[in-house]
Amino acid sequence: MEAIWKLGSRGVAEHPHLTEEIEVDVAIIGAGITGLTAALALAEAGQRVMVLEAATVGGGVTGGSTGNLYAMLASGQAPLRRKWGDEVAASVVRARTEAVDHIEATIERLGIECQFKRQPAYRLSTEDRQHARHDLNEELDALISAGLDAEMIEDAGLPFDSWGIRIAYQAQFNPLHYVEGLAGRLQSEGVVIVQHCPVREVDPDSGIVRTDEASVAAKHIVQATHTPKGINLVQAGMLVTREYAVSAKLRSGEYPEGIFWVLDPFHSLRSYRHGDQRYLMVIGEKHPLGHHQIEAYRNLREYLETHFDVESFAFQWSAQQYSSPDGLPYIGRMHGHDNLYMATGFAADGLIWGTLAGRIIADQILERDNPWHAHFGARRITPGKSALQYVKENVTVTKHMVKDYLGIEKLDTFDDIEPGQGRVATVDGEKLAIHRTETGELKTLSAVCPHMKCIVHWNPSESTWDCPCHGSRFDTDGEVIEGPAYHPLAPPEERQ
Ligand SMILES: Cc1cc2nc3c(=O)[nH]c(=O)nc-3n(C[C@H](O)[C@H](O)[C@H](O)COP(=O)(O)OP(=O)(O)OC[C@H]3O[C@@H](n4cnc5c(N)ncnc54)[C@H](O)[C@@H]3O)c2cc1C
Repeated sequence: MEAIWKLGSRGVAEHPHLTEEIEVDVAIIGAGITGLTAALALAEAGQRVMVLEAATVGGGVTGGSTGNLYAMLASGQAPLRRKWGDEVAASVVRARTEAVDHIEATIERLGIECQFKRQPAYRLSTEDRQHARHDLNEELDALISAGLDAEMIEDAGLPFDSWGIRIAYQAQFNPLHYVEGLAGRLQSEGVVIVQHCPVREVDPDSGIVRTDEASVAAKHIVQATHTPKGINLVQAGMLVTREYAVSAKLRSGEYPEGIFWVLDPFHSLRSYRHGDQRYLMVIGEKHPLGHHQIEAYRNLREYLETHFDVESFAFQWSAQQYSSPDGLPYIGRMHGHDNLYMATGFAADGLIWGTLAGRIIADQILERDNPWHAHFGARRITPGKSALQYVKENVTVTKHMVKDYLGIEKLDTFDDIEPGQGRVATVDGEKLAIHRTETGELKTLSAVCPHMKCIVHWNPSESTWDCPCHGSRFDTDGEVIEGPAYHPLAPPEERQ
C-alpha cells in the first residue's frame, strides 16, 4: 500500500552493498527526516558520515506522514501548557517555528522540489458551538500565549459546518520528495547511503554497527530509527499507535487549502496536486498497535464520501506513531553511552521534531551549543508528568504478556485458515504465527517477538505480524518492517 507521495518520486541512487569493514566519524541508522537532517548538518561540518537504511530513503514513517509542518502540537497546545507550564509550552513553539523555517531555508538553498507552501492550520469543531466552546477557547489562549498568530473563526470554508481556530503561517510539503532531495545532496557531497541494509546489532562499547553484509566502525552512532532499536528504558511508557490515510479525486467542489484538523472525532484533511490532478486526503482512525480495525480504510472512505463529492479513491496507506508519557520527544545522547544517540516520542508531530532532533544530535556530536537540547534530552526522567501513561502502558504490556500467552488457541489442523488470513496458535506446544498466502502457500513462523518475547498479532488490514507491546512489525516472511526488534521472527525450528 503506497502513500500518495510516491507520485513523481525519483528515488535515490543505489549504493553497492557493503563488502568490507568501513570506518567513519558518524554512522546514522535510518534515512528518514531525522537521520538525513543530522547527516546533512554533520557532512556540511566536515564529518565522515555513512547512512544505513533497512528499506529505502523516506520509506519509514516520513514517507507515510501527512506532510504538514506546524509550530504547535496536533494533540493541542492547551494540554501541553497544562502539563509543562507557560515557559516550556512557549519554548516548544519557538523551537518548532525555527524548525519549519529551517526546512523552508534548506529547500530554497538546495533547490529541492517538494511543493513547500505556507498555509494556515485549522483546529475545528463540527459540534454545537455551546458544547465545544470552552475547550477551543482554552486552546486559543494557549496558542496565543505561546506566540502564535491565532484567531477564532465561525466558518472554515469546508463543505460542512465547521468552526474553530485558525493559526496563520504554518506550511505543507511532500515529505518524501524533501528527504529524497536531502539524500541527493548528501550523495553529491560524497556521503554513502546504503539502502536495503538492515542494521542487526549496535555495540556502543566498541563503536561497531553490524549489518548482514559488513560492519561499520564509528566514533558516534545515531539511531534515527523512529524508536531506538533493542531494549531501551524509554520504550516502557511509550504509547504505540497506527493511523490510516486515504486519498480521493473529487467530481465537484473545492479542494481545501490548508491543514485541517477536524475534532470530534479527529480527522486530518489536506489536498495535494500532482501535475493537473488534485487529490484530497483524510487521515484518522488511530488505534493502539495490535488492536486491528479491518474497517479503518472503509471508515475513512465513508467519511470522505459523506462530506465531499468523491469521484474515485486513489491511494491508501498507514503509519505508526510513538507518543512519550510526558508529551515531549526524547532526543540526544542515550543513557550509559556518550557515543550513542536516539530520537523518539514524536507522536503525530515528527516531521518537525525529526528536523529539530537531527540538528540537536549533530550539534551534540560537533560539541556545539543548541538552545533546545535541554527540554528534550533523552536522559530526562519526569515521573510527575509521565506517571499516568507509564503505568497504563506497562499494564497493557503485562496484560498482553499474560493474555496472549494463556489465550492462544490450540490447532490440530491448518485447513480452516483461509487464503490471505493469519492466525496465532499453539501447535504441538509451540506458539506459531501461521499465514496462508492468496495462492494457498502456508507460511509458519515463531509467534514470539524477538524484541521482548511478547506474542505478535495478525494485522488483517496490512497482512503483517504486529507486536502490541513495543511496536515491532514483521512481514509474512518474518522480516522486520519497523519497531525496536533487530531480528526477524524465527522459523519454528529455531525458537528457544
Ligand atoms: C499517519 C501519520 C501522519 C503523520 N503526519 C505528520 C505530519 O503531517 N506532520 C508531522 O510533523 N509529523 C507527522 N507524522 C509523524 C512523522 O511522520 C514522524 O514522526 C517522522 O516522520 C519520523 O521521522 P524519523 O526519521 O524519525 O523516522 P522514519 O521516517 O520512520 O525513519 C526511520 C528509518 O529508520 C529505518 N530503520 C529502522 N530500523 C532500521 C535498521 N535496523 N537498520 C537500518 N534502518 C532502519 C526505517 O526503515 C526508516 O526509514 C505522522 C505520523 C503518522 C503515523
